Amino acid sequence: MNQLIVNPTSLFAAGTEPAARRPLVAIIGGGVSGAATAFYLAQAKQGPIPEIVVFEPRDGIGRGLAYDTNEPAHRINVPAARMSLITDQPEHFLRWIDDHAATAGDADARRPDGNLFPRRSVFGDYVNAILQPLISRGTVQHRRTTVAHVLREGQHWCISDRDGARTMADIVVIATSHPPPVAPGPLQAVLKGHPRFVPDPTKPGALEAIRPSDRVLVVGNGLTSADVIASLGLKGHKGPITAISRRGLRSRGHAACPHDPVGDFLTQPALTASQLLKTIRNAIRTAASEGVSWHAVIDQVRAQGQGLWKMLPLAEQQRIVRHLRPYWDVHRFRVAPQVEAALDEAIAQGLLEILAGSIASTRLENQVIHCTLRLRRDPHPIERNYDAVVVTTGPGHGRILASQPFLAELSESGYLELDPTGLGLSCTRNSEAIGSIGVSPSLLIAGPLARGTFGELMGLPQVTEHAAFVASIVSDRLQMDALATI
Ligand SMILES: Cc1cc2nc3c(=O)[nH]c(=O)nc-3n(C[C@H](O)[C@H](O)[C@H](O)COP(=O)(O)OP(=O)(O)OC[C@H]3O[C@@H](n4cnc5c(N)ncnc54)[C@H](O)[C@@H]3O)c2cc1C
Repeated sequence: MNQLIVNPTSLFAAGTEPAARRPLVAIIGGGVSGAATAFYLAQAKQGPIPEIVVFEPRDGIGRGLAYDTNEPAHRINVPAARMSLITDQPEHFLRWIDDHAATAGDADARRPDGNLFPRRSVFGDYVNAILQPLISRGTVQHRRTTVAHVLREGQHWCISDRDGARTMADIVVIATSHPPPVAPGPLQAVLKGHPRFVPDPTKPGALEAIRPSDRVLVVGNGLTSADVIASLGLKGHKGPITAISRRGLRSRGHAACPHDPVGDFLTQPALTASQLLKTIRNAIRTAASEGVSWHAVIDQVRAQGQGLWKMLPLAEQQRIVRHLRPYWDVHRFRVAPQVEAALDEAIAQGLLEILAGSIASTRLENQVIHCTLRLRRDPHPIERNYDAVVVTTGPGHGRILASQPFLAELSESGYLELDPTGLGLSCTRNSEAIGSIGVSPSLLIAGPLARGTFGELMGLPQVTEHAAFVASIVSDRLQMDALATI
């Protein structure tokens, strides 16, 4: 099938009156970023309401990688009270949960301090439910397919999808965010095809091949690693697990006594990475002397993160990414209390060891995976045998351009390039893509792929705020275009 889908009123066919023109905005990726961009675009109070087409191969819009999971051990990692699609109603998700009894049957969701940490699928259901009426009315169209190619044709973008259809769009928003993880090369070379080598644990059923008594090596110690270990625990895993990462830093849990964010990092913003670190440490000391835990300070850095990032010269941003990021990540991305408890329990039972180091070499013998591990600050490598290896090093954002043909092609034709911090795609402060040929005002980046420019842009609420911002930029552009045709 090769079908050209063009909104008959969206392009100037010969003789078409400009007044009849209705623009088409294509959003590539229907996770939270794409869904929220579509949602806010549909609410736009000015400018022509465009046709809004979201390309997303998953069943529903709004779930994406993070919330399209049926694993009961996967929980949102911040309290539900801090996750909302509606930027000016922080408790919107909480109310939705109440109205729909969405955590009924999940006795573990509510913590003793009253905070609610539902399963991640509940958040996906919530975002999807908000989008559904817009889809039913046709305001937002869900094309359940993958975008294969995007080409510039005259004043439009020609999008070819995996179903063989082509769609002409006036504006394209890239919201594909998380590429698959990249397994360390030597591991991939030796273990490719091994039945219990799991290079991408986010795939449904990825852990099914692991048997309860298997000796498991988990490569990485962040949130995905915690998810994997908690999932194995829930399946009754009894074999020993080693989790290894360069620094052996484990994602921290939430404060025993939660506190509102404290500190001020914007009035006199740090202009270097080391100044920033010093300011944060001082603020943590001051907070501790007042009985407030570091969590509240880090929450404030996160809340003010975009303002802070903007003030830092590029070389200092790069220094932060190079040296401070691992420490930032483990303090800023926290594990849900239920997941933290599962890990603590596994350590207490002697089932889980967390190591700082790297894998020096791997070899296979009768399906047994022999690893030489080089430990940090220890000249003597250790030998370990495993039956399964799970890679949890997280999405390979640094290789985003190579992760999909359409991104690689847009890069080759000069419309996209890697952000100089290596965190995602280069864009302006209006989220317009930057490539070797310059800025493309009709190609925008929504969500975490824009964080090289915006700084803190990974979790809610920054992701939804950014989507609302991108939608406003799109609306402004459509209005300007409409005025230009009068
Ligand atoms: C495992 C995990 C758990 C997380 N948990 C939390 C949490 O509890 N709380 C929190 O605040 N943040 C959490 N985050 C942070 C997360 O980044 C954001 O909350 C948010 O989900 C990002 O959504 P997104 O739409 O930008 O990206 P994604 O979820 O990656 O969605 C991108 C979508 O694009 C689609 N896509 C990709 N390529 C194409 C293509 N070529 N054509 C069409 N569609 C395409 C994919 O199918 C995918 O659905 C988590 C992140 C991860 C990875």
